[in-house]
Amino acid sequence: MRSLTKATHQDTREHNVRLVMRALAGLGPISRADIARRTDLTRTTVSDVVNQLAAAGLVQEIGRGPSSGGKAPILLQIPRDARQLIGVHVGEGQVRGAIVNLAGEISHREQLTLEGRDGDDALHRLEELLDRLLVVAAQPPLGVGIGTSGLVDTNAGTVRWAVHLDWRDLHLAARLRSRTGLPVYVANDSQAAALAEWTFGGHTPARGMIVIKVGNGIGAGIIIDDRLYQGDSSGAGEIGHVSVVANDVRCRCGRTGCLETIASLRAVDGRIQAVAHGPDERPEPSSNDPGALERSLDAYLTGDEQVRGIVIEAGRALGRMVGYLVGALDIHDIVLIGSMTAFGDPWLDAVRNEAQRSALPLLFDSTRIGLGRLGSDIVELGAAALLMTAELGLSQAA
Ligand SMILES: [Zn+2]
Repeated sequence: MRSLTKATHQDTREHNVRLVMRALAGLGPISRADIARRTDLTRTTVSDVVNQLAAAGLVQEIGRGPSSGGKAPILLQIPRDARQLIGVHVGEGQVRGAIVNLAGEISHREQLTLEGRDGDDALHRLEELLDRLLVVAAQPPLGVGIGTSGLVDTNAGTVRWAVHLDWRDLHLAARLRSRTGLPVYVANDSQAAALAEWTFGGHTPARGMIVIKVGNGIGAGIIIDDRLYQGDSSGAGEIGHVSVVANDVRCRCGRTGCLETIASLRAVDGRIQAVAHGPDERPEPSSNDPGALERSLDAYLTGDEQVRGIVIEAGRALGRMVGYLVGALDIHDIVLIGSMTAFGDPWLDAVRNEAQRSALPLLFDSTRIGLGRLGSDIVELGAAALLMTAELGLSQAA
């Protein structure tokens, strides 16, 4: 058993490597001095970590940057194509995969539909997708990262429960590792999305971030002290099924009053349809209706006050939850992603105003609530980031 002191030193080294890798990935080309400034590490620590990374071929000097008076600083960057990463998103209705470099750039994509497949059939589809990506990869990739819906124990590499895939206690990482011979990491899709924004989003380094995905479902990924926080049973960030309103709308989890019954796209679409068609004639919204966003946006853009009110109410309910999270975790960077962000500033303002109302003013003053910077590949990128930080960040520190 490692002594506490040794474990702490090891953790600190790993943490430092991750901080420097992240500064290089998100902000590079960058000088050692700027890395130190942006990460709050000492110059000596930054130099030590850079030397470690250089020995592994993971950082390169690319010449001198502009001088600010003294000697011009040497700029560093990650050699973008030094390693290839495979990032996969197991979503509702399809599996999508990408070959990603160390800077988060995608060179190739593959996609297969699930068409209602679940259980072993869905798993075979995922394996087929991986086979295709491995054929395309120019060299053996560093490994495979997977983001999937459901409760995922990332340390164990196990999908504990994914409802629409009918996966329960599936040892996904072990199974794919023995098939591909590569390291495999698995995370929940919202948590993977959080890692993508954290690693490749170019946000100024801080100690933590909450990324909330607001689409047909609502889930958050929480980064604390530069690590994905999963909680005691892997469910950290499952905010969609926290009861926040006194309505009698039945949620897909079987209960009423969940955040998803008011703030999700599915809920907003359902309520807008009820305005348009009357409550009895409206079609029952399905959880994976591709037309829901366009239909809701069209109705919203007509300027109808009732429709506008539905969207604002959705934003407020989410904002209340953001306020609770800021109060509970004291994390000041909140990033919103997902289809509901298409409603733009009025929705975002409603989120901000309500968050401010429900959080302690002292905590909220320095809180930034903004939109994500990555596109529709975000889960694949996050799965790749999970792989990258786990394999490179940790192995270099040993
Ligand atoms: Zn629910």
